[in-house]
Amino acid sequence: MDLDRVIRKINSQDIKTVGLQFPEGLKMQAVNVARIIEDECDVNVIISGDPCFGACDVSDYKMKDSVDLIIHFGHTPLPIRYETPTLFIEAFANIDVKKDLKRCLEVLTDYSRIGLVTTTQHLHLLNEMKDFLEDNGKEVVLGSSKSTRKGQVLGCNFSSIKNLDAEVFLFVGSGNFHPLGIHLFTNTPVFALDPYNSEIREMTEYADRILRIRFARIVKAREAKKWGIIVSSKEGQYRMELANEIKRILKDNGMEGFIIMLDNVNPDALLAYLELDAFVVTACPRIAIDDSQMYKKPLITPQELEIVLNKRDWENYQLDEILFHKR
Ligand code: SF4
Repeated sequence: MDLDRVIRKINSQDIKTVGLQFPEGLKMQAVNVARIIEDECDVNVIISGDPCFGACDVSDYKMKDSVDLIIHFGHTPLPIRYETPTLFIEAFANIDVKKDLKRCLEVLTDYSRIGLVTTTQHLHLLNEMKDFLEDNGKEVVLGSSKSTRKGQVLGCNFSSIKNLDAEVFLFVGSGNFHPLGIHLFTNTPVFALDPYNSEIREMTEYADRILRIRFARIVKAREAKKWGIIVSSKEGQYRMELANEIKRILKDNGMEGFIIMLDNVNPDALLAYLELDAFVVTACPRIAIDDSQMYKKPLITPQELEIVLNKRDWENYQLDEILFHKR
């Protein structure tokens, strides 16, 4: 994390209070970073203690009356309006991917044109990875979009790889979250290299398992008559127009829909709605997909609702995306 940049920025302006926001994986560094900033700058620091999962979730509304500047760590900015001046500071993983990339060549022997994809914390390795693959005879294609940097995807936005002419995708990063999204979005083979445990996984089997779960949720949701339509109050997840549209469609189909606005969507927050049979989520698209097992009642995406209502075929299953815009 480039703390020198943070200190220069604070000291170059008339700033009295600074808000710090970290994703969950970096929160253990919050106190140390706050200490460094208070030692180096004549400011008071306030740490945002709420969970944070993306640049869709900057604490700008909550902190706007308390701080002059927010330093948001670990994510790249989105093209949305932030209410409080916000400085985004990326956090880069200090790792060596070369030895693992060598092993990737073995699983990529059948492919010559590779879409290389990663997340914020490995973007600084992108050119090195691309050069390595090209030096070993592969053609590497990279995509970019208004919401992401070159070669980057978000869990809810794959516009950088839309129409990218790749035979296979190589995702470099941890976990199944992003490579699953790439597979479901592109329907193209995806290999995920986890540089933290040197594991290389092909995503098709896992994606098929998730699709079977989605199918079961959709079948169950066909019994629903009373729906909760979840809207997030987070700036980057707020899709009220879509929620209103869903409410109208449900009504046209003889059903009831009730819009529920939440900051953090979680099973406890939905427990009270005993009367409702199922929920459509217009907040983070990955809540319904990745957290599905935590919910007793079906939680589905707007595109899955189209399948429930026979307006879309299962064969045209589509991942929900947030196309970011200023509110
Ligand atoms: S909406 Fe979800 S997937 Fe998209 S950036 Fe926010 S937390 Fe990540």
